[in-house]
Amino acid sequence: MAASGKMTSFRLPPLPTIREIIKLYNLRAQRQLSQNFLLDLRLTDKIIHQAGNLKNACVCEVGPGPGGLSRSILNAGAADLLVVEKDKRFIPGLELLSEAAPGKVRIVHGDILTYRMDQSFPTHIAKKWEDEPPDLHIIGNLPFSVSTPLIVQWLEQMANRSGPFVFGRTRLTLTFQKEVAERLTASTGSRQRSRLSIMAQYLCTVKNCFTIPGRAFVPKPDVDVGVVHFTPLAQPQIQQPFKLVEKLVKNVFQFRGKHCHKGLEMLFPEVDRLDLTEELLRSADVDPTLRPAQLSIGHFRALAEVYGKLCRENSELIGYDFRVELRQKHQSQRRRSKELHSQHPLKKEKC
Ligand code: SAM
Repeated sequence: MAASGKMTSFRLPPLPTIREIIKLYNLRAQRQLSQNFLLDLRLTDKIIHQAGNLKNACVCEVGPGPGGLSRSILNAGAADLLVVEKDKRFIPGLELLSEAAPGKVRIVHGDILTYRMDQSFPTHIAKKWEDEPPDLHIIGNLPFSVSTPLIVQWLEQMANRSGPFVFGRTRLTLTFQKEVAERLTASTGSRQRSRLSIMAQYLCTVKNCFTIPGRAFVPKPDVDVGVVHFTPLAQPQIQQPFKLVEKLVKNVFQFRGKHCHKGLEMLFPEVDRLDLTEELLRSADVDPTLRPAQLSIGHFRALAEVYGKLCRENSELIGYDFRVELRQKHQSQRRRSKELHSQHPLKKEKC
């Protein structure tokens, strides 16, 4: 069965190698754009393999560059490949690829951070959220400076079922700096456990597929790279608004070496900080002496539910930011000390 599938699958006709494309179009990597290319098509095939079965699938590839991954996506049988590339120098090379795979490649010269993916695929591919994932995949080897803010943006859209998730539980296969890949998939109690671990794992099944050594890229980055696969969960593990969960998690992890109550305290205004923190921890049944990394998704779920209830009871709580309160306190202290100085001539003279 698998063999006959292979026989009927689409193969790209012979094309210049990626190295030749780079030479042909003078595509020297721009360090300031953190461009590192994959030239080895066995490696790009291995990445694409992690996405699952792409036969007849729709794929959005982010940052195709000279098109190594794009070739593997097409060879895996994708029917509709939309590539979004910010650097216009790559467009002619991508057009060559598009000619080699007639009707299969759409090229967008744009920025993936602002690109409207919700309008880019036909509605008939959409699946209900609770059903199996749609035949739509997001794949990309992006600069690290883009992939981290982008995954946070996509996690929020996942929670709100907007952007690429209007089509259902769209799967993602993306590269990250190895350390970020480890954080995304870190389990409770591990050294790499962080904000990203909670935000990704409460919404998705996250798999750290394999590590690519830096030397596999041209030019070689200073770090190794992890390939991470995300499948959105039919039932998120925390049923609270994304922004609320994000705020809670951010507060907890800001003091990652301290007991968790320390970060939780900062969710509340100084006047009733201790009482509300105690109520939060007691109602959520969380031990205040656990360190942030020791908190499971279940702990965060319980904390988010109680914090959500407290926010509903006091509408100002969700907007409360201890840094603003601290800044205002310092400003008024400075103002008071200035006033004191101006009222005290002797002190003023000394100054
Ligand atoms: N995918 C190619 C490969 O694996 O060889 C290129 C990888 S290179 C690390 C990242 C690519 O993403 C570059 O082509 C760069 O121009 C593109 N890129 C960077 N920021 C982008 C953005 N915000 N939107 C779309 N493409 C972007």
